[in-house]
Amino acid sequence: MTLLATPHIDTSKQTLIVILLGPPGAGKGTQASMLQSTLKIPHVSTGNLLRANIKEQTLLGKEAKGYMDAGKLVPDQLILDMLFSRVSQPDCDKGYILDGFPRTLDQAKAYHARLSEKGTKLVAINLDLEDEIIIERLSKRLVCSGCSSPFHLKHSPPKVEGICDHCHSPLVQRNDDKEEVIQKRLSIYHEQTAPLITYYLKEQNLNTVSCNQPIEKVLEEVIAHLKGVFQ
Ligand SMILES: [Zn+2]
Repeated sequence: MTLLATPHIDTSKQTLIVILLGPPGAGKGTQASMLQSTLKIPHVSTGNLLRANIKEQTLLGKEAKGYMDAGKLVPDQLILDMLFSRVSQPDCDKGYILDGFPRTLDQAKAYHARLSEKGTKLVAINLDLEDEIIIERLSKRLVCSGCSSPFHLKHSPPKVEGICDHCHSPLVQRNDDKEEVIQKRLSIYHEQTAPLITYYLKEQNLNTVSCNQPIEKVLEEVIAHLKGVFQ
């Protein structure tokens, strides 16, 4: 019997797939890496996979770069090829955590069509956060133009306004963190993800966890939900 770090989740018979849904700024990446340490299964980010494939100039990476250079979206099937090639590696035998994928209903359907249902336990977690709080979190982020250190006007302000504590370069706001850009990303998110939430509610074990609380508390609730599914 294989026990994970949280002793009540037994994945010896099944591959555990955790899908983290949630808006930009809810903290999916943070939760994914905390879950990775707790559950001892890898965090698989399709964004990172795409970048790695392009950097290593794999066949799939070259193909993806062709689309991107032409200003086109990388097709879902290509992303899925990268994903399944990654999760067929032995470190994913006990399962993996997906963050940032699927993003649309089409992607979810294509993913599930290729997933072997046998011995697979899939749990979807909706990491929820109100738009106003996301805007507050993201629009107050600053980054050093020199050493890329992150700051936050409310939670981790620099000692001197607008200047990096570490290398004294000016702090800047990423384009992605500008309020109007966040608003746009959120409206795209809501439009694409609402059907996804309905789909997972119907098809899988979907649980919503509020991210308007400390990250440790969010993790606790996610783990509690996973345990419930495995009981
Ligand atoms: Zn700096």
